[in-house]
Amino acid sequence: MRIGAHLREDAEPLETAEELGVDVFQMFVTDPQSWKKPEPHPQAQQIRESPVDVVVHSSYQINVASLNNRLRMPSRKAVEQQAAAAAELGAFGLVVHGGHLRDGEDAAQGFANWRKLFDRQEDNGGFGVPILIENTAGGDHAMARTLEAIDRLWDAVGDFEQAGFCLDTCHAWAGGEDLVGLVERVRAITGRIDLVHLNNSRDEFDSGRDRHANLESGHIDPDVLVEVARIADAPLILETPADGIPADLSYLRAQL
Ligand SMILES: [Zn+2]
Repeated sequence: MRIGAHLREDAEPLETAEELGVDVFQMFVTDPQSWKKPEPHPQAQQIRESPVDVVVHSSYQINVASLNNRLRMPSRKAVEQQAAAAAELGAFGLVVHGGHLRDGEDAAQGFANWRKLFDRQEDNGGFGVPILIENTAGGDHAMARTLEAIDRLWDAVGDFEQAGFCLDTCHAWAGGEDLVGLVERVRAITGRIDLVHLNNSRDEFDSGRDRHANLESGHIDPDVLVEVARIADAPLILETPADGIPADLSYLRAQL
């Protein structure tokens, strides 16, 4: 079982990974609040050759489902660029949030936009790495908050080999999905879980809020998180508050 964490020290992630003793880590390839094109990473070769696995999280403003051209177009471009940067690092995927529409917009068009992302890129030889679509916690018009939405999303993208799934436990909980049995229910829809973001939640069930907590300190029963980790059969990434990550790692290792 591969266990690791999102590392915020992007300049020297391998050093941080070694200090923590992780098998896998997640990083950004550009400022996550910006549209900036990723710069070549100075440690790209070492990261590529390291036995530690790496996955990249895309920047936050990306919304490939959006019906607004001025948001969707740069989002597509950013996904392509960040997937190429991820490939340079030997990453096994690029995590992209499901995105959302605005009030009154037609969800079918949002799912169609997800399909177009893969469709168009296929003509250019595909993305540098698989795109791992992550479930999100909030909003009434999210593309991947509820199982019902994920089901519609997968109707749109499920036949693309490069469309993968990232299950975030905090987002599922805060989004109103029961975590008990969730791995099976998701897999029945997507056929795959490529990555788990294992996070507790600072907020209550179905709160719609996206605030991560360390494994033993949120509203989710830690035993339920361990059970998700045990059965998901996918690399586990902690996106919990940094100070508590060493304790989260030892807790997980002890439980698994
Ligand atoms: Zn996440």
